[in-house]
Amino acid sequence: MDHVDVAIIGGGPAGLTAALYSARARARTVVIESGLPGGQIVTTDKLENYPGFPDGVSGPEIGGLMHRQAEHFGAEFRMFTAVERIEPVDTDWRVTVDGEELMAHSVILATGAVPRKIGIPGEDEFTGRGVSWCATCDGALFRNKEVAVIGGGDAAAEEAQFLTRFASGVHLIHRRDELRATKCIAEACIAHEKVEMHWSRVPAEIDGDNGRVTSVLLRSTKGDPDVHLPVSGVFIYVGVDPKSDLARDLCELDEHRFVVVDHLARTTAPGLYAAGDVTDRPLKQVITAAAQGALAGYEASRYVDSKVWTL
Ligand code: NAP
Repeated sequence: MDHVDVAIIGGGPAGLTAALYSARARARTVVIESGLPGGQIVTTDKLENYPGFPDGVSGPEIGGLMHRQAEHFGAEFRMFTAVERIEPVDTDWRVTVDGEELMAHSVILATGAVPRKIGIPGEDEFTGRGVSWCATCDGALFRNKEVAVIGGGDAAAEEAQFLTRFASGVHLIHRRDELRATKCIAEACIAHEKVEMHWSRVPAEIDGDNGRVTSVLLRSTKGDPDVHLPVSGVFIYVGVDPKSDLARDLCELDEHRFVVVDHLARTTAPGLYAAGDVTDRPLKQVITAAAQGALAGYEASRYVDSKVWTL
């Protein structure tokens, strides 16, 4: 069975930066990833807040560059369909991937997060038939059509603007009368001529005909009458859930199932680190994921060194 120094689960900005730091510390590093390098950012058309790119940079581009850089310094990459288990074995860790086992002195969880569902009628039924969580992937399908975006955070306000490239009109539905999004993103969204704001409204039901979305029923949070909004697409951005199932029995999770880490990216299990969106750290950004990844990679390699010294 292969025995590596550091196994990193997840190939987003946190995992790739952890790999860069761990590999540069000459720890044998394997990144186990399931998709294109970059994690969630590959679905981001343009990052405007990653330092050093005043004109913005595309998600797939920066993901590809991070991957190349980690590989250049010696990180190995393995594609997988499913990481089944992570188990402590003495002071090491056994990772079961697609039925095969890998031993590691240390593991870094960088599994990220997934977009949350709302849980309303029609959401599941029309997934892929008008309901989407990815404007970058599906936006072009709604050329010259009306679409709704649900949510009031950075993702909703940014993706609503992205959708104006295709849609004839974008309706942003938010449950309060003020966006949560970063002020400059919120201001640009509200000012956009193709974006119409629907304040203090929540979607109650997504309706369709012939298997395609035709409208969304909007309920008022202030007691106003319901409204049927005719749209062909509904893009949902109501936050994210951590992909922390693998860690459930290994270390402490917070009440929303984010992995609890300390200031050195350590989980509550010795030798198990976590970085990026899966952690309980605030500000889910590419820059913070990368910074936490750097710390996790550095600390994991030091942990491995300290284990070898004490053998
Ligand atoms: P978020 O910041 O958690 O915002 C979720 C939004 O959805 C909030 O406005 C919330 O309303 C609303 N919401 C939650 N549950 C709802 C429900 N059941 N029905 C209706 N509305 C609901 O999530 P996000 O925008 O997906 O962003 C996730 C993380 O990624 C954040 O840390 C964000 O900063 C980051 N991100 C950053 C960028 C960027 O920097 N460019 C881009 C995308 C995402 P309330 O406001 O009332 O709570």
